[in-house]
Amino acid sequence: MSTSTQITEQQARAVAEEAREAGWDRPSFCKELFLGRFPLELIHPHPRADPADAAAGAAFLDRLRAYCASIDGGAIEREARIPDECVQGLAELGCFGIKIPVEYGGLGLSQVVYGRALALVGSVHASLGALLSAHQSIGVPEPLKLAGTPAQKREFLPRCARGAVSAFLLTEPDVGSDPARLRTSAAPTDDGGYLIDGTKLWTTNGVVAELLVVMARVPSHAGGPGGVSAFVVEADSPGITVEHRNAFMGLRGIENGVTHFDQVRVPAQNRIGNEGDGLRIALATLNTGRLSLPAMCAGAGKWSLKIAREWSAERVQWGRPVGEHEAVATKIAFIAATTFAMEAVLDLSGHLADEGRKDIRIEAAVAKLWTSEMACRIADELVQIRGGRGYETADSLAARGERAVPAEQMLRDLRINRIFEGSSEIMRLLIAREAVDTHLNAAGDLADPEADLTHKAKSAAHASGFYARWLPQLATGPGLLPTSYREFGALAPTCATPSGPRASSLARRSTRWRAGRRHWRSGRGSSAGSSTSVPSSSRSPRPACVPN
Ligand SMILES: Cc1cc2nc3c(=O)[nH]c(=O)nc-3n(C[C@H](O)[C@H](O)[C@H](O)COP(=O)(O)OP(=O)(O)OC[C@H]3O[C@@H](n4cnc5c(N)ncnc54)[C@H](O)[C@@H]3O)c2cc1C
Repeated sequence: MSTSTQITEQQARAVAEEAREAGWDRPSFCKELFLGRFPLELIHPHPRADPADAAAGAAFLDRLRAYCASIDGGAIEREARIPDECVQGLAELGCFGIKIPVEYGGLGLSQVVYGRALALVGSVHASLGALLSAHQSIGVPEPLKLAGTPAQKREFLPRCARGAVSAFLLTEPDVGSDPARLRTSAAPTDDGGYLIDGTKLWTTNGVVAELLVVMARVPSHAGGPGGVSAFVVEADSPGITVEHRNAFMGLRGIENGVTHFDQVRVPAQNRIGNEGDGLRIALATLNTGRLSLPAMCAGAGKWSLKIAREWSAERVQWGRPVGEHEAVATKIAFIAATTFAMEAVLDLSGHLADEGRKDIRIEAAVAKLWTSEMACRIADELVQIRGGRGYETADSLAARGERAVPAEQMLRDLRINRIFEGSSEIMRLLIAREAVDTHLNAAGDLADPEADLTHKAKSAAHASGFYARWLPQLATGPGLLPTSYREFGALAPTCATPSGPRASSLARRSTRWRAGRRHWRSGRGSSAGSSTSVPSSSRSPRPACVPN
């Protein structure tokens, strides 16, 4: 791959495809849904934490909750900075090593507990959540846990756990969603190390970090294959300059900068994985790392619900508390139901990640996409429920003697979640790519304009075998029996369709539609009126259990 910025669409796609985890060694609930199957056994009974781990997590969260009560989120917003003593306090509680194994000095707690901790600190100020998650979800600990050598883990993880802040540096002025354009270079040196040159943009924590994970392109050379590679770099290495601290519409407390590398020397033992593995490591890191945003979105939803309920009961207009006007009540119902769903998605994805027995790459992307979009809608509805006070800053409200509710700040803080760690548009592409993987394997060459006739003929033979087995199963299966999913009671009809919510063809969608209608006729309810308590809006042919 040339290091020129003249990258074609095909080259960009080839790089993304190469970095993608090709195999499916473990089962995936969402992948099966896209294939028109509903493998309930992959998520039900709901996975549970080991009781001892759950107790250790609960004790940690109690300590963190008590500490959070002492942090002044308003001061972080006013001063656009997280005070040093707050970072220190979080470090003393072990917050920089929540998921780092105990043997490396961390708390060794689960993804579920980590998510709850992020929700807690994020409800004080979103910048605290960004600080911890940039460090722990994408910064040094996660890639090292995934691909680090034992020596790297021994050297860096205890420092991270003690509070050495880390950052993840992939983005460049010319590199956003498309990593193929990556320009930062790591030139091999005679002693086996590398010299890094380049500029990294929007480095969350980069301004204050002690350790950096840097993605840089190694040119192909006699000693190795080259390619985009990941390095752990000491942030005080000669040649590193933080040129600017960026300011944003929200997350005013984050230490996000532009970091320049000029002939920065990195020893060979600081490379994570092999040369050329960098993007694969970055993507694998994000598979679980992405769950930090749903955690903060669920926390924001809970906070919004609290404020919405309190305010709508207190504020009286037109002779009633505003919450008794249907238009406002509808908004509160939306916030409550969506927050419940966000937390459920987070909790299930977190437990699946902790179990480690399922592939959650689609689940994490779906969770990130859906919760970040929904949280923004919730924040917008909260501002609406608060009326003019929703648009006023917390400081201004306090100065007039009213309760300092930072609703407008939450709207600003949440907006970035639809952009970073994979924008909503990129999440849709990622989900779609994974969703059609089986179809591409079965019949990809048929649709490939570059494939020659021999390949197309082979593909046609393979495809007909696959579809002869796959298509009939969309119209059959235990999910079509009236007794299926009985244990879910009144909600059963919303689950009882075997066909895939994202099965790609119109034919499959219409099959699902027909399957749904059959259920209404089979006594579970009808579109005109039902003996069940399922609200009419959920009687859609789309299974209600699928986030969309
Ligand atoms: C506050 C903040 C913190 C950040 N922290 C970090 C960090 O710690 N480390 C780091 O490496 N980066 C970080 N980033 C960078 C962030 O990950 C990128 O902003 C993000 O990846 C999007 O890249 P971009 O902004 O260059 O947008 P672009 O990639 O230029 O995209 C612009 C628009 O086009 C859309 N788009 C792009 N390609 C496609 C496509 N193929 N199909 C459809 N739509 C498309 C995008 O979704 C977006 O809407 C941060 C950014 C911000 C603002």
